[in-house]
Amino acid sequence: ALSNDPPVVRTTCPYCGVGCGVLASPDGQGGAMISGDPDHPSNFGRLCSKGSALDETLGLDKRLLYPMVRQPNGKMARTDWSTALDKVSDGLRTIIAREGPDAVAFYLSGQLLTEDYYIANKLMKGFIGTANVDTNSRLCMSSSVAGHKRAFGADTVPGVYADLDQADLIVLVGSNAAWCHPVLFQRIMANKRERGAKLVVIDPRRTMTAQEADLFLPIAPGMDSVLFAGLLAYLADTHTIDFGYIAAHTVDFEAALERCRSLAPDIAQISKTTGIDAADIIRFYELFAGTPNAVTCYSQGVNQSAQGTDKVNAIINCHLATGRIGKAGMGPFSLTGQPNAMGGREVGGLANQLAAHMGFSPLDVDRVRRFWNAPRMAEREGHKAVQMFDAINRGEIKALWVMATNPAVSLPNAGLVRDALRKLELLIVSENVLVNDTVMTGAHILLPAAAWGEKSGTVTNSERRISRQRAFLPLPGEAKPDWWIIAQAAKRLGYGKAFNYETAADIFREHAALSAYENDGSRDFDIGAYADIDSADFDTMTPFQWPRAAGRAPGETRFFASGDFFTADGKARFVAPETPALHFAADAEFSFTLNTGRVRDQWHTMTRTGLSPRLASHLPEPFVEVHPDDAREHHLVDHGFARVTTRYGSCVLKVHVTDNQRRGSLFAPIHWHGTNASSACIGELVNPATDPLSGQPESKATPASIQRV
Ligand code: SF4
Repeated sequence: ALSNDPPVVRTTCPYCGVGCGVLASPDGQGGAMISGDPDHPSNFGRLCSKGSALDETLGLDKRLLYPMVRQPNGKMARTDWSTALDKVSDGLRTIIAREGPDAVAFYLSGQLLTEDYYIANKLMKGFIGTANVDTNSRLCMSSSVAGHKRAFGADTVPGVYADLDQADLIVLVGSNAAWCHPVLFQRIMANKRERGAKLVVIDPRRTMTAQEADLFLPIAPGMDSVLFAGLLAYLADTHTIDFGYIAAHTVDFEAALERCRSLAPDIAQISKTTGIDAADIIRFYELFAGTPNAVTCYSQGVNQSAQGTDKVNAIINCHLATGRIGKAGMGPFSLTGQPNAMGGREVGGLANQLAAHMGFSPLDVDRVRRFWNAPRMAEREGHKAVQMFDAINRGEIKALWVMATNPAVSLPNAGLVRDALRKLELLIVSENVLVNDTVMTGAHILLPAAAWGEKSGTVTNSERRISRQRAFLPLPGEAKPDWWIIAQAAKRLGYGKAFNYETAADIFREHAALSAYENDGSRDFDIGAYADIDSADFDTMTPFQWPRAAGRAPGETRFFASGDFFTADGKARFVAPETPALHFAADAEFSFTLNTGRVRDQWHTMTRTGLSPRLASHLPEPFVEVHPDDAREHHLVDHGFARVTTRYGSCVLKVHVTDNQRRGSLFAPIHWHGTNASSACIGELVNPATDPLSGQPESKATPASIQRV
């Protein structure tokens, strides 16, 4: 609580990766007044429409308030926590004893708090003995993670939000920040207004973001690497690269440049491949070459691709070549989608990671084993999200625990995901809501989890800033924090000593200690300064950026200012991108490319934002955007209806005819689905191809057809 004003609680918005600070004043009747926290250094009091409407989403309607267990007659019935947790542990133990630890899996969420994520990973990777733990963050930023590791030797976001205030050129690639990171976009627009910064937007659609750009490059889907390969060649040809920086701090420049020249031999070829006007390409290249203070932000349009990692590296290449990294107002910048995708990464939330940004090298496995005193340490990577559900479909995984996410809607080829869920011998779902599509596939055990406003812990935003989420409402019914639920299950599985946590602060301390354990500075993630934080200080902890090593004062929060990277030789890697191509190209039967994304006022599958009448008024129903020429050709009328079909599924959507949409492309938002009064589940239509390095699905390019209905 704020001093002298006890009813006001500082917390953090539960939606996007901007991570805005929020002030909540509970009204004593289950509601609260919401405003932006003027003292939070990531938003300085600003909130977007979603954050401002949080007060409309706090009701208990539709909440899951008690544990429930499926009965022999197939119906769910209320039970007590002890019975439900016994069933969780008995079910997991039976399957592990019969089939081994790889027959069980957890599917987590960027909505979880870092402490929830930490303890779930500890249980699975250290005590059950499998790395079958993945998360919906796989769909959000795993290509950035893989790209960072290739270039920097670690999953390190180099920059900070202040760079967006100091840049003279901001390039947004595959990012509708005006809708998806609105408060950050306001900051970019303030720089544009007040300092004259230039904004370049690269996107297949003329989004709200693109409409504010000084230069909009409407790129053909999937061709980003060609544009940035051409930029690297242009920088070399015009001698605007920093040879000194390249020689001192990087390797593999020549090989990458040679590949880039072959992918993008001249402007005419780049224009042909990307579909961008040649003069605009030259304008972009001149702007980038001539503006040292340049930040390139990238988001889902880059990440959600079967070549997402290559796209990330093609962008990073251009910053390494110019030495524009680790300095004020410059650098590559991954905009994280979810509120705690970054925090999940910090504790090993992905199937190919261990906690504190460690991997599965024998050294890291051994270090984590010793720190946890782990009896059954996973020694190899587990299944990434899409592959995890494939393994369920093949019958290899028999038990799944889903926490705070709705894979039956959000994963690609969602129909197949539902088939997989129905095959499970044991489906455990920790949820806020009584009904969602995942629950409806036949969950065996439902565990009521605390929601935003009721739970306490930490989250990390896109600029590596760790902030507190704080409870300001009582736990309703019998709902419990996710970390508590996992710890209780772990105790019943016989691991009580290692999961004897009383509070989220206990878990945070252990997480901080692990980040510093045998870390001589060779690993990027280190918050060892917080390993001994007492509970009172945890309660009042103010937002801070990592790294914060023990014994060191807070200092420069940008990484790589010295030109030292986390590779064995300390040098960054240039990467030669593969030839860009969509995994599935449009053909005669499916002649359109279906792009998916978000709308301004909804979040994910709408379990929270769908409760707000204010937010529903923006775009109240599912739709597909079509270019006017395509609409004419296919006899579609604005505000009529059309069936969109892919090889994976089909649904009927309201038609929005707009020349913001590219010819040959369709765009449909992801939010609506079966249990929110719509039959439009876009996940059912999306192809399941994934990036071979990151495992991130190609959610923005599925061949599709459209017919008037
Ligand atoms: Fe919440 Fe993101 Fe909006 Fe900030 S910009 S209020 S974090 S949704």
